[in-house]
Amino acid sequence: MQHVIIGAGPAGVTAAEHLRRLDPAAGVSMVAGEAGLPYARMAIPYLLSGRIGEAGTMIRRDPGHYEELGIRVLCGRARKVDAAGHTVILDDGRKLRYDRLLVATGSSPSAPAVEGLDRPGVHTCWTLEDARRIVAAAQTGSRVVLMGVGFVSCIIMQGLVARGSGLTVIAGSSGRMVRSMMDETAGGMIRRWCEARGVRVLSGDRAVAVEDGPAVRMESGETLPCELVVVATGVKPNVEFLDGTGVTVEQGILVDARMRSTVPGIYAAGDCAQGPDFGSRSRSVHAIQPAAVEQGRVAAFNMAGRDLAYRGGIPMNVLDTLGLIATSIGRWQGAGDGTWVEDGDAYRYMRLEFEDDRVIGAINVGRTDHIGVIRGLIEGRVPLGVWKDRLRADPNRVAEAYVAATR
Ligand SMILES: Cc1cc2nc3c(=O)[nH]c(=O)nc-3n(C[C@H](O)[C@H](O)[C@H](O)COP(=O)(O)OP(=O)(O)OC[C@H]3O[C@@H](n4cnc5c(N)ncnc54)[C@H](O)[C@@H]3O)c2cc1C
Repeated sequence: MQHVIIGAGPAGVTAAEHLRRLDPAAGVSMVAGEAGLPYARMAIPYLLSGRIGEAGTMIRRDPGHYEELGIRVLCGRARKVDAAGHTVILDDGRKLRYDRLLVATGSSPSAPAVEGLDRPGVHTCWTLEDARRIVAAAQTGSRVVLMGVGFVSCIIMQGLVARGSGLTVIAGSSGRMVRSMMDETAGGMIRRWCEARGVRVLSGDRAVAVEDGPAVRMESGETLPCELVVVATGVKPNVEFLDGTGVTVEQGILVDARMRSTVPGIYAAGDCAQGPDFGSRSRSVHAIQPAAVEQGRVAAFNMAGRDLAYRGGIPMNVLDTLGLIATSIGRWQGAGDGTWVEDGDAYRYMRLEFEDDRVIGAINVGRTDHIGVIRGLIEGRVPLGVWKDRLRADPNRVAEAYVAATR
């Protein structure tokens, strides 16, 4: 049995290790799209702020780890998959035969419609190589323009500020921050927090070009001279090499609870996969490391002939924007049956969303006191009974509600 894994991020590495354990006689090959040892992207913000060195980003510290396990790591990029011939073709022409294939290629930054993104001084913040370039360019007194106000932008601000850079953030026409995980109130709080810490947040305007310097030219005519431009405006799954295989791709590779794609023998896990959501029939890209690890594990079990179902991911994001912690969990956009408490001056906010008498989602800003309890209520689909109305009157009583409703 030959198992081939494309991708050496958390999903790929986890799958390789489980396959080795579950199927000792099988061949396990992992194609790593980037040079060097497999690393975790989520460590990049810590590297930027100097809290860890490059060694701290590695998924497994021991350089001999993969060889000792008998996992063959090949450096290269998958160019094509021949599903009928059960073969992966790499950029340099090498061919890998597989019986079971796992696609764990994650996603890559998508480029906004801005001219001149190929100029020197313009980088994404996605790979270790990107991080090295940013560290070299972001020095004390340097001016950094950050395009985008999503999760990655917010999470790397601390690193950029810690390096002594002056930050201008381009927030697009609406100016709404972290739209994919925060409502307007929470996004507004995060924005004010950034501004109070000296970050200039531009809205109602958009970047049209990067000129030599570099300098970012805005639609309004304003020019932002800088030493570094970081582009973080969204991502797309790495799936081009699957063209012609029949694998169905929507926001990611569609997989069932066993991480099977629509083509027999081909599985997918991690950021490139669109998998089952917890407690609903929908499927989405979960795009966080714990989900990638769990999906890699589930894929490995099923590739090795065991039967293991993914429970479905509860969307959960934890964001540290210059020290302000914000979380969203579950269906925080809600079903129109929500409640919240807010203390804008203290940067504290909690929103709960209900469906019938159950909590289905929540947002917290500036407070982490109830997150475990809220997660428990969502995961346990706990009926609140009379406690729903009490929570609607005062969401701060969520721990009391949990205790009473689970007794
Ligand atoms: C700056 C930053 C901060 C983050 N912070 C957090 C956080 O705090 N918490 C959290 O949970 N998540 C965080 N994330 C998200 C997290 O990193 C991802 O969810 C996780 O990396 C997904 O793992 P993966 O294995 O699916 O994909 P990836 O880690 O993206 O790995 C994909 C692998 O596939 C390879 N590859 C791609 N295309 C090809 C190809 N054609 N051929 C061969 N190989 C290929 C890549 O080189 C890589 O080895 C962060 C991400 C970034 C960028």
